Amino acid sequence: MARLPFDGRIRVTSPYGYRTDPITGAQGSWHGGLDLVGEDYVIRASVAGTVAVSQMVTDRSNATWQWGNYVCVLGEDGNYIYYCHMAERRVRAGQRVAAGDILGIMGSTGYSTGDHLHFEVRDGANRQLDAAAYLGIDNEIGVIGAPAVEPEESSTAWSDEAVAWATANGIIYGDGNGNLMLDEPCTRRQMVTFLHRLAKLMGRA
Ligand SMILES: [Zn+2]
Repeated sequence: MARLPFDGRIRVTSPYGYRTDPITGAQGSWHGGLDLVGEDYVIRASVAGTVAVSQMVTDRSNATWQWGNYVCVLGEDGNYIYYCHMAERRVRAGQRVAAGDILGIMGSTGYSTGDHLHFEVRDGANRQLDAAAYLGIDNEIGVIGAPAVEPEESSTAWSDEAVAWATANGIIYGDGNGNLMLDEPCTRRQMVTFLHRLAKLMGRA
């Protein structure tokens, strides 16, 4: 089972299959892989294997120049996994890698309009496979992974007035008092309690 090539949240910016070319605007151009933008720029091996290629081709008569700095890993599953457009490569050809090992840093080298990873999978006969299916994700533009949960600021200028009002009117209590405290997660029971107190304050309950 392949793992995602980034830790943390990932945006799928271009699915596998036919698409509008991002540079020429041509309709129905073939996209043999999946374009991914990692919140974390560190690119990691999706499956264990051996690094088959780690290079940057600048000669434009060689079609692989489009991939810029790229790494190809021959996976233990017999597939070749391509990691393209890297800013930096961190592995050498012949090196063994485990799933999750760092291969390089996301960049925009080669045929690319911005920082992203072109992730492509080919079988032993050099046929392109559905890279999204390989990763077990939907082959469509979108975000993978839950948004990072940021703790609320304990006090902010824009919320101080609201907190003072809610505290003064018995809707919530300050830290350490009662069951609706600032800076704590809220259950549905507490949300209902909040609404009930608000409704009472407004004379509707
Ligand atoms: Zn691509």
